[in-house]
Amino acid sequence: MEMIKAREKPALLTILELLDKRMTLSSAEKQHLYAMSKGYDGEVLFDSMIEKYIDTDVLILNDLSLISGTTPFQIDSVVLTSDTLYLYEVKNFEGKYTNRSGQFHSGSGQELINPVNQLSRTATLLSKMLKKWKLTIPVQTAVVFVNPTFVLYEAEEHHPFIFPSQIATHFTAVNQRKGPLSTKHHSIAQKLMEETQKELPYRRQLPYYDFNELKKGLPCSRCGSFDLKHTTKKSRCQVCDTVTSVNELVLAQVKAFKILFPDRLVTSNNIYDWCNSMLPKRRITAILNTAYKRKGHSKATHYC
Ligand SMILES: [Zn+2]
Repeated sequence: MEMIKAREKPALLTILELLDKRMTLSSAEKQHLYAMSKGYDGEVLFDSMIEKYIDTDVLILNDLSLISGTTPFQIDSVVLTSDTLYLYEVKNFEGKYTNRSGQFHSGSGQELINPVNQLSRTATLLSKMLKKWKLTIPVQTAVVFVNPTFVLYEAEEHHPFIFPSQIATHFTAVNQRKGPLSTKHHSIAQKLMEETQKELPYRRQLPYYDFNELKKGLPCSRCGSFDLKHTTKKSRCQVCDTVTSVNELVLAQVKAFKILFPDRLVTSNNIYDWCNSMLPKRRITAILNTAYKRKGHSKATHYC
């Protein structure tokens, strides 16, 4: 098993999570955050299953953003075996649904779009690209429902669904495709990597935020509470009782600061403010010195 492209947490998700701790998101933003976070958790769970079950020679590419002609499309996961390209769409749906007229309906009236049409469109676009590159391989699609609580009534036999209880069996079947990988497979992987777009601009999708208006302090790394008691070296969260080293806590917030404010310099003053003056400035400076390179002199000193 060779990981050609590992999954990364989307930057938009990371930033929304950070903002959620330090400002009040609108309900639409909260919903977006919840949906993204759930989707990402599902994908991570899927990756762990691949890791656990696949033990044959395959190439894996996750999270591809491609463009066929002018049509953009996304792929959650590709597994290349000697004779098949598996194209996976991962869904983290939870609870019981009934399949009816292109939608999944829950008992409480919730509706989800049946992902099968989207997936077959993706497969068509991908096959078109492969044909253009003269690299043909049969494409097999599957929607993988990773959440163990998901149940779908009246599923149609011909839909390429893999339910939680079938995942292990499916990967056992993939393991049977033992043929050796050739230059063709590596060329497909390489072409897909070349064609993959950088993360689409996400800044526009972010709520407006400003350094002065965000809540300052050192949040607990586990539950996000700002109610921490600090001793010289350790902090104890008053809500979940997690004990973290003060250094770790500050460095996590330097990282957050850099992600949220890529245009601002990391200085002792900025981080001191960002941590809500919870620690003496010289302590902040000492912590910055342990992990970052010092640049500039006196007032212009900052850390990279
Ligand atoms: Zn906590």
